Amino acid sequence: MLETLALKNPSHLYDRLLFALGGLGIYAVVFPLLYTFAGTFTATLAVIPMALIGWLLGVRGSLIFGILFHFLNDYLFELVGDPGAVALIPSLVSSFTVTLIGMTIGWIHDLLDRVHKQTAELQEERKSLQNEMGKRMEVEERLTHEALHDPLTNLANRRLFINRLEHALEWNKRHPDDLFAVVYLDFDRFKVINDSLGHNTGDLLLVAVARHLKASVRAMDTVARMGGDEFAILVEAVNNNDEVISVVERLRESLTAPFEVRGNTVTMTASIGVVLNLLQYARQEDILRDADIAMYSAKAAGRNRYKVFDMAMREEAEDVLILESGLRSALQNSEFRLHYQPIFSLATQAIIGFEALLRWDHPRRGLLYPGEFLKVAEESGLIVPIGEWVMYEACRQMQQWHLQFHTDPPLNISVNLSSRQFSQSNLIAQVEAVLKKTGLPSKNLLLELTETTMVEDIEQAVTKIDKLHKLGIGIEIDDFGTGYSSLGYLRHFPVNSLKMDRSFTSSLDAGKNGIPIIRAIVAMAGSLGLKVVAEGIETAEQAACLTELKCDYGQGYYFKTPIDGDAAERLIREAFNK
Ligand code: C2E
Ligand code: MG
Ligand code: MG
Repeated sequence: MLETLALKNPSHLYDRLLFALGGLGIYAVVFPLLYTFAGTFTATLAVIPMALIGWLLGVRGSLIFGILFHFLNDYLFELVGDPGAVALIPSLVSSFTVTLIGMTIGWIHDLLDRVHKQTAELQEERKSLQNEMGKRMEVEERLTHEALHDPLTNLANRRLFINRLEHALEWNKRHPDDLFAVVYLDFDRFKVINDSLGHNTGDLLLVAVARHLKASVRAMDTVARMGGDEFAILVEAVNNNDEVISVVERLRESLTAPFEVRGNTVTMTASIGVVLNLLQYARQEDILRDADIAMYSAKAAGRNRYKVFDMAMREEAEDVLILESGLRSALQNSEFRLHYQPIFSLATQAIIGFEALLRWDHPRRGLLYPGEFLKVAEESGLIVPIGEWVMYEACRQMQQWHLQFHTDPPLNISVNLSSRQFSQSNLIAQVEAVLKKTGLPSKNLLLELTETTMVEDIEQAVTKIDKLHKLGIGIEIDDFGTGYSSLGYLRHFPVNSLKMDRSFTSSLDAGKNGIPIIRAIVAMAGSLGLKVVAEGIETAEQAACLTELKCDYGQGYYFKTPIDGDAAERLIREAFNK
């Protein structure tokens, strides 16, 4: 029984009852026997070990109950006076009562213990819950921050900018005197920086620029990175437009200082579009569209400047869109034509080849020249498929003339390549395919590239030009003297000829002060083994002067304007007596 009492945890009611009965048994049997046979004194003494056993077995309070029980028993014994028979009854009653009290107190004690434990557990749980919540809030805050900020510069991103712009519009409806403006900024030629210094340096530069921009406006203004090298600034609470303009000027000023990035000193310029008087706008997307239009207008006007949006710009932008969709259908509807302008040997006056020049036979506007659509074709990327068509058509036509006339030497065809086309990764394969399909010998194809195209990514240009050169294709630098204005780069490229810009030819007119420069160009080209083609010869005097200056070839209205394929065919027939 002791074992049972010791092993069982008296925390359940059933165990407790067993325990109570156990206790009852001990007291009921042991004490009457002790009283009867050993006398009161011994029985009293026995209470102590009994209580101690109870204590050791884990019955808290047994000691007290044992003593209580003894006195009660003692009292009853005195009262009744018959130890043998009567002692059993009070012993039973008192043992039972005392055990019940012990059980209840133990139970209450355990209950309190458990409550205490549970409270501690709850507190622990609350603490860990609070911790968890704290962590969650941190993660949530971080996620919200990431969703609304640009990871590179830590500026607001497009989403946050639009949100702030919408708020500003709302606020303005109620406070029409508070003016605000949007400044849209795009860095000029950032691609060149990225390509030449690497994307990592480009990224560092953007971070530095972001810091500059942020420092040039007030804390309340929102500076956002809208993507790539485009930034937007929401200038709020301004009193008049002049204040906005002074902010824009301050921004430009802050960008003029050169940036030091990874040991490189980089100077940046930006084209900036500004939209003022935002009260007239109901939707944020209209503001952003107009800011973008103004920024493009600044770029078109020569970059490194700002333009304030006006309605004429929007009309222009709409015209561009119309032109772009027209160009798209022009390809499908075969509205493009090629005109050919002959190129002459200045020494012999013989035709050595033709330059293919693109025309658009517009269904409503008639024949359009490149000046009217080329820029849009370049910006939209449509120049790539258009250029592919030009290359194929020019080679096909020239090969047809080869087969038809068998001129000696065979005529060359010069094809203009835009920088967009030149940067296509499949350019070489495309040229090879055209030559194969048309059968034109590669030595009779000349590709005209401008200096700007070549220096945009010198390394890539050198590799590509090398490959083209190895295929036997000639390379000409078009509009030479108008672009990079440095001759040093020429030795990097296996170029065949320079097409000297028309401005040099016209510099021969008034006072002929262009002679020394042309002489220098011809001498330099000669020393590099390059031929010189003079562009835009309009008069006999210019032709004579250029011949005297030992310019190799000439092209211009004086000899012949660009003509369509049929007229060019007649010209060849006449010129070569075929
Ligand atoms: P470019 O390659 O420098 O072509 C010469 C331009 O000068 C042609 O203008 C030609 O008509 C014009 N021209 C020729 N002789 C004279 C002259 O004596 N006086 C004057 N004032 N002009 C003369 P066009 O056909 O309007 O082409 C303009 C430019 O458009 C071209 O300049 C070329 O850069 C570009 N282009 C033309 N066709 C293509 C093409 O198929 N693809 C690409 N990417 N660009 C093209
Ligand atoms: Mg050309
Ligand atoms: Mg040219």
